[in-house]
Amino acid sequence: MPSKLPYAGTTIFTVMSKLAADEGAFNLSQGYPSFDCSPKLTELVNHYMKHGFNQYAPMSGIPELRESLSEKTSRVYNVHYHPEEEVTIVSGATEAIFCAVTAVVYPGDEVILLEPAYDSYRPAVDLNGGKPVYVTLNAPDFKINWDKVKEKITPKTKAIMINSPHNPVGTVLSSQDLEELAAIVRDKDIYIISDEVYEHIVFDGEKHHSMMTHPVLRERSFVCGSFGKTYHMTGWKIGYCLAPKALTASFRQIHQFITFSTVTPMQHALADFLKEPEHYENLSQYYQQKRDRFIRAIKSSRFKFHPSKGSFFQIVSYKEITDEHDYDLAVRLTKEIKVASIPVSVFYKDKIDNKLLRFCFAKDDEMLDRAGEILCSL
Ligand code: PMP
Ligand code: GLN
Repeated sequence: MPSKLPYAGTTIFTVMSKLAADEGAFNLSQGYPSFDCSPKLTELVNHYMKHGFNQYAPMSGIPELRESLSEKTSRVYNVHYHPEEEVTIVSGATEAIFCAVTAVVYPGDEVILLEPAYDSYRPAVDLNGGKPVYVTLNAPDFKINWDKVKEKITPKTKAIMINSPHNPVGTVLSSQDLEELAAIVRDKDIYIISDEVYEHIVFDGEKHHSMMTHPVLRERSFVCGSFGKTYHMTGWKIGYCLAPKALTASFRQIHQFITFSTVTPMQHALADFLKEPEHYENLSQYYQQKRDRFIRAIKSSRFKFHPSKGSFFQIVSYKEITDEHDYDLAVRLTKEIKVASIPVSVFYKDKIDNKLLRFCFAKDDEMLDRAGEILCSL
């Protein structure tokens, strides 16, 4: 049967995690923690399951969670989203991104993607008949050249997709970046679909600059988030979208026919858990220690890198080790030395091979040390 996504095959995360499992390798490929979420969170879920919170949640999410999230957003960013009209709970950021794209993109519309781009963006645009228009970010700093973005704007530009902290390269946008983006979209009917799933994982004293903190950007942004990244339970697949009333209405129209609603007992648990800020306030510090541990472990290797500024990924250059294609190398390392990673070329439309691998450091310390030790032998 013909494929609607002929270029996509099976996602790299599925491919590499399966290979890692088959090979008994340390899995530093797919981005998920090797450690568990807080027992308090699972106790809360148990509590709500045992007390009969097991039927469909309201389509937009339970009011308690929408309110908790709205309060948390005000607390962290000093920006208010109305819990009834501007907050929607969905089944993971992947769904949020898909619904946002589907809500705004009509056949023939252009959507600007900055590459390397997270792998679900292009399929979401394509499946809606949109045309992805690429701006390539260059190694080693992967800074956004806003003049290049501006050059790609046409009357058909419907949306720009933004991701900060960035997966895979670990960069974060500055307040100056937000100003430059705002100057481009001001007075234009262009939406922003902002993937901020790593909002609480930012290093070296830097700050996450959410799209919602700039008035020109807030009014046109779908801010997509994920509880999975913040609370170490990626398998629960709960995320959210914060967007102004009219955008939220269009977003919910799509969401109601994709999943309709999201797991009820988990929503109740999160509504309670969100009221304790320490769980996300300490996350950057927690992951900075993991980043530093991994970096220390590979310091004497021949990999070259700039420390990640955010997310739980570190990219490394292997130019001094081999000139193999990054995909081939990632597969070979998984099989031969039992350390799995993600080849960065998969995040480019034309599979540009900059000789970079992505390692996930959301792993227990022992795994980081052991993997690092092995990588030093190359
Ligand atoms: N965006 C980015 C940048 C991601 O790394 C991920 C992976 N978790 C997602 C979106 C998807 O998040 P979720 O698991 O909540 O669907
Ligand atoms: N976001 C995770 C990563 O980048 C993977 C999520 C998925 O497997 N779809 O590794």
